[in-house]
Amino acid sequence: MAKGGTLREVQCYHCGAQFEISARAMTVSCPKCYKKLLVEDVVIKAAQGVTKLQTCGKIIIEKKGRVTATLVEAHQGLEVHGILESKVLCGGPVVIGDKGRWKGDCRAPSVEIAPGARITSGYFEIAPANQSDRFGLSALPGPHNKPIAHPDPPPNPPPDPPHAPPHENSAP
Ligand SMILES: [Zn+2]
Repeated sequence: MAKGGTLREVQCYHCGAQFEISARAMTVSCPKCYKKLLVEDVVIKAAQGVTKLQTCGKIIIEKKGRVTATLVEAHQGLEVHGILESKVLCGGPVVIGDKGRWKGDCRAPSVEIAPGARITSGYFEIAPANQSDRFGLSALPGPHNKPIAHPDPPPNPPPDPPHAPPHENSAP
């Protein structure tokens, strides 16, 4: 089995599990929560109204592209050359091009804003990823922070052992 360069690490955007996939995979199922994950780069060339746009890869909104969503999540980066109206969670650099229009909160490790870009509103949180939260994606910015759900419920405690009578006072 050849290894070098054929695997990449991804993080499930449903449950946060991190695992390795083939570098050529376009969609995978999370081994922990079994939900489908999009792992390829997404290029938006036209207007899109969606609830959520999520990928373990990159999202590029081209000049004629427009994304209106409640959540955009891109683990490897986001480029906006068109219009974006959404909350954004990004695990890579965010680039807002000179024709880019942005409206919405953002959490990302870095943001680059070209002269000419327009940001109507948004709470920006620039947070480098740490080890336990490697892609920086565990929480949305702003007042709607929710603690990450614990996917593993604690195991049931073992049943109580039967009460044995004490033996210290055995009869002489
Ligand atoms: Zn998962």
